[in-house]
Amino acid sequence: MSMDRDLIALVNKLQDTFNAIGGDAVDLPQIVVVGSQSAGKSSVLETIVGRDFLPRGNGIITRRPLILQLIHTPNPAAPKNQDGSESSLPHLSPPMTEYAEFLHLNRRFTDFEEIRREIEAETFRVAGQNKGISKLPINLKIYGPGVLNLTLVDLPGLTKVPVGDQPTDIERQIKNLIVDYVSKPNSVILAVSPANVDIANSDSLKLARSVDPRGLRTIGVLTKLDLMDAGTNALDILTGRTYPLKLGFIGVVNRSQQDINAGYPMEDALKKEEEFFARHPAYRNLAHRCGTKYLARTLNHVLMNHIRDKLPDMKARLNTLMGQTQQELNNFGDTTFLGEQHRGSLILKLMTEFARDFVSSIEGTSLEIST
Ligand code: GDP
Ligand code: MG
Repeated sequence: MSMDRDLIALVNKLQDTFNAIGGDAVDLPQIVVVGSQSAGKSSVLETIVGRDFLPRGNGIITRRPLILQLIHTPNPAAPKNQDGSESSLPHLSPPMTEYAEFLHLNRRFTDFEEIRREIEAETFRVAGQNKGISKLPINLKIYGPGVLNLTLVDLPGLTKVPVGDQPTDIERQIKNLIVDYVSKPNSVILAVSPANVDIANSDSLKLARSVDPRGLRTIGVLTKLDLMDAGTNALDILTGRTYPLKLGFIGVVNRSQQDINAGYPMEDALKKEEEFFARHPAYRNLAHRCGTKYLARTLNHVLMNHIRDKLPDMKARLNTLMGQTQQELNNFGDTTFLGEQHRGSLILKLMTEFARDFVSSIEGTSLEIST
């Protein structure tokens, strides 16, 4: 388990490094959430995190990719000294158990309402006041005892017609943005479909199939099971009889808009979800493979296995990059005496060193993996 944690932590670090230098040279394993607008994508992400922190409302809300790294930390988060040892200072306030950091800001957030406002402000700053979208991602890390290690990407929802002052080609723009993420073989696709719409009309599954025709790296999530017509159920989908996906379908029940407006707490909603499956005549026997908690655990396993599968490729790619970078550095000559204008080459150098560390860590872990 701790080895698993190290592996995702390493990939997270590498992701930060590439984000910081704006590079897209290596595709890192991550889970990408896709679905039509209002399918329940943001709701699913929030319940996985166990916190309300995503901007919501009607219409297009998610207008930039949000790369969300969840990092499990032990509870309680005791204050640490600079060297990482436990601080002997008494706790002045109750220990913070959960906090978040944005890559674009140098500060820590503990108020999740404030995180939501920052996501909104950053969306407006880059994607404009209107309903336009931007490819530039927002990077957010959430640390806490309640989360499993996961890297998730939230994307704008698929839509059909432009609304407001959206450009006429908004459908194509959004689709291209999503395809950029899901076509990478290192992405696991979380295809969200609402259970109250016929699965044959699912935009997310259609899109997933276009890049993953054999359904090898797609997980289906069926939301709104509570909103199905009386007398119908989704058992055939959940058991894989309707639509084949190697990683299967998981059913969830998120909060309704009414619950959200009434400020219905997340914890209560998770309990209610468990009861829904445990009591439902059609899902009772399947209850242990349903719900948000099961989804989070499954995603953690899937991401781990995916990273293990991709380690040899990632290593080879990094080695190539390191070779190229070394070549460039050699062309620069001795970089240690260079001034400001050569900061770029220094970054390259740091990156090479980082990548080298990364590869040797992989070598360490892969020994355990191959057993
Ligand atoms: P997104 O556009 O895909 O991010 O969808 P949201 O997560 O914002 O959800 C859209 C609306 O559907 C919100 O009002 C949610 O409260 C509601 N919703 C999402 N999932 C469920 C569910 O499982 N059951 C019910 N009753 N409502 C849901
Ligand atoms: Mg959303």
